[in-house]
Amino acid sequence: MTPEVRVCRYCDEPITDPGDAVLVAQEAGNSGPGWNVWAHRAHAGQLGMHPVAVRALARILLARVFPQGG
Ligand SMILES: [Zn+2]
Repeated sequence: MTPEVRVCRYCDEPITDPGDAVLVAQEAGNSGPGWNVWAHRAHAGQLGMHPVAVRALARILLARVFPQGG
């Protein structure tokens, strides 16, 4: 298995310390599984009110509350 490479959404730098990685969002793929969005611990707060992250989270929450059946 290939280890997941975590890149900070805020500064685009790789997060080398697992303890410094904060999951800020999960984005759903159009086909197949989605992916996690990470940020440095110090940068997660900067992304807290990011409209794209908020939209992505809202979409995920809505999809969980209102699952669309085939
Ligand atoms: Zn960062």
